[in-house]
Amino acid sequence: MKTYFKPPRPGETSVAAACPICGCYTVRQFWRLPEYSFQRCTGCGHVYQNPRPSPLDLVERYDEDYKQYEVDNADNFFNLMRLGLDDVGFSGLEASLPPGKRALDVGCATGMLVAALEKRGWQAEGVEVCQASADYGRATRGVTIHVGTLDSLHLPAASFDLVHSSHVIEHVSEPGAFLREMHRILKPGGYLVCATPNLASYQARRFGTEWRSAIADHVHLFSLRSLRRLIRQCGFQPLRHKTWGGIALGLAPPRRKACLDRWAKRLGFGDVQIQLARKPLVSGISRRSGGG
Ligand SMILES: [Zn+2]
Repeated sequence: MKTYFKPPRPGETSVAAACPICGCYTVRQFWRLPEYSFQRCTGCGHVYQNPRPSPLDLVERYDEDYKQYEVDNADNFFNLMRLGLDDVGFSGLEASLPPGKRALDVGCATGMLVAALEKRGWQAEGVEVCQASADYGRATRGVTIHVGTLDSLHLPAASFDLVHSSHVIEHVSEPGAFLREMHRILKPGGYLVCATPNLASYQARRFGTEWRSAIADHVHLFSLRSLRRLIRQCGFQPLRHKTWGGIALGLAPPRRKACLDRWAKRLGFGDVQIQLARKPLVSGISRRSGGG
């Protein structure tokens, strides 16, 4: 039922962390699971693991097993990404950009979106922490994939028209620093697309610790509101958002599922969100972008 994840390994290091959104250190228990727990910030309500695994331990979870999971589900994940991009008006955005437009897919797995963007005329590259996934993508799709975390790569500033990340920000230790790095490498006027689970969803409320996204690898769980706030704090102008996923497959009869999915998209209670934002032509980053 739950999304693929690696449980914490013996010997992993846990570190205390401030809320990435408001900087507050005070938390209350939100969800307790056997090997990890989620806390709610008393300052702004953001939910995250505190203490949380160290960044190095998190990266080491993405191994050969993870690559195989990505390979096995590549078509399904790509289709979901495509639908999400449609929801935020990607084709119109794409048409507004001049030839030679550059895209970066952060957390590109085996590079399926990178390859698809290249076919549509983009100069596209990916970033992936899993060496095995990157090797597979390079070998099978012939795409450019940088291996490492985004901040470790020191990509040139103001060099991309689009930075896309799907189901990545909830895995990173410091989502504020992650967004600020995406802001730095975007050209002024460039677009950010960010998809992640939606904590303020029917399924999260209904299933609690059994929700498919309440997993050890998700260090942060954002609502539409908390992610929009962080996006804004990191210097972006939020443009559009959408949610989908009223109820997961197999948890309701087909007609009820179809109805819930339709209304989730319309009313915003789906358990996956996608947000489109833009780096302003003249940028300023709030001091309270947290994390770091
Ligand atoms: Zn907070």
